[in-house]
Amino acid sequence: MKQIEYFLKDEQATLTVGAQLAQALQSFEHQQSLVVYLNGDLGAGKTTLTRGFVCGMGHNGNVKSPTYTIVEPYELAQWRVFHFDLYRLSDPEELEYMGIRDYFNDDCCCFIEWPEKGTGLLAKADLIINMAYQNEQRTINLQAETPRGEAILTVLNS
Ligand code: ADP
Ligand code: MG
Repeated sequence: MKQIEYFLKDEQATLTVGAQLAQALQSFEHQQSLVVYLNGDLGAGKTTLTRGFVCGMGHNGNVKSPTYTIVEPYELAQWRVFHFDLYRLSDPEELEYMGIRDYFNDDCCCFIEWPEKGTGLLAKADLIINMAYQNEQRTINLQAETPRGEAILTVLNS
């Protein structure tokens, strides 16, 4: 499965797709890392989707937008999830100072909003997600870029 598109009728539908991504990842026999690029205008639902994922991975509590902190870490029982928002990054070099390479580890999931601001410094995406407005609602397109990404979409579609 290389690509899936859904219509998201409300916020809950967006959260559900995030939670389904978490379930798909956890259904694999061996723990696997995941890199997701999130594209879409401000307010398209990138943070909402990530919130669904982080909660689906077992986090209880807030998931706030890392707009000012650039990255928000979640240390969960078996996983570390890093939620990036690179919107306010003025220079990709800031990512080097943050030690960005250390975030792309085996037990880590990285969800990255505005990935184009980190071009050249990010790990390759397993999934590229595009979210868009459709009047008051949203659409989401998930595109697999690696075999792992394809495996996740196959689970999502089953
Ligand atoms: P982004 O991170 O892309 O800037 P956010 O997730 O922070 O966007 O904000 C999206 C806004 O749209 C939130 O107010 C959320 O409640 C709302 N929203 C999310 N998904 C949907 C949807 N499918 N339909 C309508 N509103 C949505
Ligand atoms: Mg956001």
